[in-house]
Amino acid sequence: MADRIVFINGLELTLYDTKDLYDPIKSTQARSSQKYKEFRVAVLLRDNQMCQRCGSKLDLEIHHIKSFEKKPSLRCRVSNGVTLCSLCHSNVHREQCELNPNVL
Ligand SMILES: [Zn+2]
Ligand SMILES: [Zn+2]
Repeated sequence: MADRIVFINGLELTLYDTKDLYDPIKSTQARSSQKYKEFRVAVLLRDNQMCQRCGSKLDLEIHHIKSFEKKPSLRCRVSNGVTLCSLCHSNVHREQCELNPNVL
């Protein structure tokens, strides 16, 4: 079976047929560190490349549940990431500011 190339947020990924095997190293874009790229891929795959709020599969981004700046040690922790579309992502950040810093 041939490997499947997919594009997520401009990131080129090769998904192998073998379960749980993927190769983010083949990504052509190196705008962030390898570790962070692997974190993004792992979160996207765990969340079925789907926004965890509205189910959209477009314009997906990774939101950090615990703030990127405040918790640098959690930056690449998959359990601290959640897949959101860009719309829901900006809503989450707006809600965090307006309501309660502990929501999501
Ligand atoms: Zn969404
Ligand atoms: Zn965010």
